[in-house]
Amino acid sequence: SEYIIEGKNLFAGYPAGHKWVKAVEGVSLNVQSGEAVALVGESGSGKTTLGKVLAGLLPHRQGRLYIGQKPATGRPVGEIQMVFQDSSAALNPRLTVGKLVEEGLVIHGERNKKERLQAVMDALTAVGLTAEYVNRFPHQMSGGERQRVALARALIMQPKMVVLDEPVSALDVTTGAQLLQMIGDLQKKYGLAYVMISHNLAVVRHVCSRVMVMYMGKIVEKGPVADVFAKPGHYYTEMLLEAHPLPDPRLRKDFTGYGDPPDSVKPPSGCRFHPRCRAAVAKCKRIPPGFAEISPGHLAACHLAG
Ligand code: SF4
Repeated sequence: SEYIIEGKNLFAGYPAGHKWVKAVEGVSLNVQSGEAVALVGESGSGKTTLGKVLAGLLPHRQGRLYIGQKPATGRPVGEIQMVFQDSSAALNPRLTVGKLVEEGLVIHGERNKKERLQAVMDALTAVGLTAEYVNRFPHQMSGGERQRVALARALIMQPKMVVLDEPVSALDVTTGAQLLQMIGDLQKKYGLAYVMISHNLAVVRHVCSRVMVMYMGKIVEKGPVADVFAKPGHYYTEMLLEAHPLPDPRLRKDFTGYGDPPDSVKPPSGCRFHPRCRAAVAKCKRIPPGFAEISPGHLAACHLAG
């Protein structure tokens, strides 16, 4: 079947002085129509950088990226949108909701004024906001309402896929749950695909069918959410699950056992997780593990997997 987006051996990062810091190293992935894929890992693992690459907000340095069948241009396109965690930073405080939601259409020079207004109303309706919001400013709204506006800004472009970067982590539990419900409804209604970046594994399990686990710029495990969470094949995934036990988050124990992630400028040799891994064997230090299949579609890059 046709992928909405397909990346092969992607590398991306940021300039730092006259060097560049790699944040994504050799990632391959694809997303199908209507599918919700999670990207999990600690902060600094490269999730947001990868999300930006997929959304055309950051060019990749190496590898190939296709949107549909076409090579990506490295610029934003309507088909792929991104929504960030804290939209109060992403929304221009001087613009009304109407202008904020309309912006993408204006930039792409689409439709006349009347049609754009109709599209704004449709997008607001889709995220559960009434016409009264058109003249409000971001500071006049709650965090949950601002996240809805951010989603409406994405939806007005009629995307095939939305990259959601920690979409509910700035919200309280109830507001977050309502927003997640809406995200699920939009997926069904519009056949939307998502790449959801989250550190919250309960959220991932609620929304996504597939998960990719990132560690220091690389995907170390991927597969159906149920399989990966029930039977992790990489010790890093196991560590994440121990730190955020499911299903009862109240059982969360403080996690100190494995130490902090190493310096990403000089990543460890072999398996990058080896300094923190409780099961490391001699070759883990020398040889980067390839993917081993644990069950159909469930793969882990660990010497001891499979
Ligand atoms: Fe641990 Fe070795 Fe597997 Fe890496 S390859 S997760 S160090 S056992």
